[in-house]
Amino acid sequence: MKVPFLDLKAQYDSIKPEIDKAIKEVIDNTAFVLGPSVQRFEENFAEFCNAKYAIGVNSGTAALHLALLSLGVEPEDEVITVPNTFIATAEAISHCGATPIFVDVNEYTYTMDYTKLEEKINSKTKVIIPVHLYGRPADMERVNELAKKYNIKVLEDACQAHGAEYKNERVGSLTDISAFSFYPGKNLGAYGEGGMIVTNDKELAKKCKLLRAHGEYPKNIHSIIGYNYRMDGMQGAILNVKLKYLNQWNEARKDKAKIYNKLLDGIEGITLPIMYDDDIYDSVFHLYVIRIKDRESLREFLQSKDIATGIHYEFPIHLQGAYKNLGLVEGDYPISEKCMSEIVSLPIFPELTEEQIEYVCESIKEWKNGT
Ligand SMILES: *Cc1c(COP(=O)(O)O)cnc(C)c1O
Repeated sequence: MKVPFLDLKAQYDSIKPEIDKAIKEVIDNTAFVLGPSVQRFEENFAEFCNAKYAIGVNSGTAALHLALLSLGVEPEDEVITVPNTFIATAEAISHCGATPIFVDVNEYTYTMDYTKLEEKINSKTKVIIPVHLYGRPADMERVNELAKKYNIKVLEDACQAHGAEYKNERVGSLTDISAFSFYPGKNLGAYGEGGMIVTNDKELAKKCKLLRAHGEYPKNIHSIIGYNYRMDGMQGAILNVKLKYLNQWNEARKDKAKIYNKLLDGIEGITLPIMYDDDIYDSVFHLYVIRIKDRESLREFLQSKDIATGIHYEFPIHLQGAYKNLGLVEGDYPISEKCMSEIVSLPIFPELTEEQIEYVCESIKEWKNGT
């Protein structure tokens, strides 16, 4: 049996007529950049997040960057985030000329360890970016409390967590501002690049809207230096169709994660995602990540069984060459370093079948018995 890591074609096949119609409409109307399809999608996505404003942009990275700029992040400022995230979280900070400051994560949730957050805050700290990694919300209440105490803003990196809920509230509406990605493999994926800023703050929304399109408003009047971060009309149209199915797809992911957890329960040496607190941290399982000491051997074995796996992510940001100027070394963030040397992402997507999950779990047991 073949188990791919992701099957974007299967998803397209399930909604082909609707998608094809939406694409054709954009071409017929020639509204290729922003336009009515993007505006409709912004309204619907804001509603989906239970927030007031959504601003469509052309990547999650752009969304993070503009959100930080709208919060007033400048060179000399410090922005706090975690070292175990996609590098874009840190890049967005660097694009503002500011410095990323890392806080280690919790060993089981893989999200920011708020007990280590306060010691990183100082007079230069402008923003905190908790990352809802793998689709699981970070502990937003604690982060918001500390931010309030020190008069700092908070930006949710929700690029992996469309539809996730923390204490029954949707991510995207849990703090000052948030950023989403519609990279094709995300829970809500475009047919190309895409991203979104979500906020309840009218001023921040206005600033982001200006910044995404050359600081232009009204036409030919450029009040600030902006960017070309506009969303394509085609992506807006496609995402609008797909948004209708997102709740259903997220539920399917959660079901798959439950099956994995049940079938892999009790295998010695394997750490599973925690699910016992899902009434508070309602993950949408963008990724299903287990931990194991001997991961390369497991990955090779699964590869030989036609099962694809991934690593998200292999190296913490403080040890990447791009950030060597920060002067951080191995041992500075021991939990992130340990987790990142042991994690393996197993296939998870809405169309994955129960038979495929059983086959993956049986294969893992076979590997375990053979080692
Ligand atoms: C995907 C992702 C991003 C970047 O999004 P792009 O759309 O690829 O620019 C940022 N942060 C996290 C956590 C992500 O997973």
